[in-house]
Amino acid sequence: MNDVLKGLIRTHFEELKQEYPNFRLTFREKDAVVTGLLEFYIASEKEQIAHEYHVSMYIPIDYPNNLPSVTEFSGKVPTNFHVNPTGQLCLGVASDLWFYLEGKLTLSRFTKRCVIPFFLSLQQKQQTGKVNQGERPHGSRGIQEFFKDYFSCDDTEKLLRILCAIYYGLLDSVASCPCGNNKTYEDCCKQKVDLLLEFCPQNVIRKDILIFFHFHYKEKEQSLLKNFFSSKMKNDPHENFQYHSLSSFFR
Ligand SMILES: [Zn+2]
Ligand SMILES: [Zn+2]
Repeated sequence: MNDVLKGLIRTHFEELKQEYPNFRLTFREKDAVVTGLLEFYIASEKEQIAHEYHVSMYIPIDYPNNLPSVTEFSGKVPTNFHVNPTGQLCLGVASDLWFYLEGKLTLSRFTKRCVIPFFLSLQQKQQTGKVNQGERPHGSRGIQEFFKDYFSCDDTEKLLRILCAIYYGLLDSVASCPCGNNKTYEDCCKQKVDLLLEFCPQNVIRKDILIFFHFHYKEKEQSLLKNFFSSKMKNDPHENFQYHSLSSFFR
């Protein structure tokens, strides 16, 4: 980790420590780890109820363009809730999380907008059997749902077209919209795409789009996709390979 990044992490950590004084910061060769007791209160009608979770947040080398991963180690999160095979908590679909952060990642915002809501959802699920604000499916199906909701579009072909245009940077305001709505891009999907690109770092969008492609590549749209991407894939065999190397995201 270089000194600039270490400095940024220290600054963000000091801000976090103001609110959560239990946390400790450790720098390691390839990442930094914030560990401690996450304590927060939920007001009910009669009382304030304290909640405590022992967590570690692993801050990656591409912070703040990539989210920390989080583990909880007092055994309070059942593995049939959103926990990845690696033991890391599945806090949500990455694009959703960047929208909660409004595109700005600090450790304090991340804790308040991504980590605590995860534990609140767990509480609700354990108490009532469901999560009030809804719950995305785990893994790649959650990413499918995110894009469908975000573009208010159930038409897979339209979605593939617009996501492909984002992925390859083929967006032109005066041209017709890649989704195929017979409007200019400016009058159709531009606003939504701009907001997506404003809030989510490129690497995040590209990864989620690849997962979306991969999901459909396997399914009945296989031939449609092959035709749609064939010219680009021929030019870019590396991208073609990425579809297959992403299989670890699927279950
Ligand atoms: Zn999940
Ligand atoms: Zn459109």
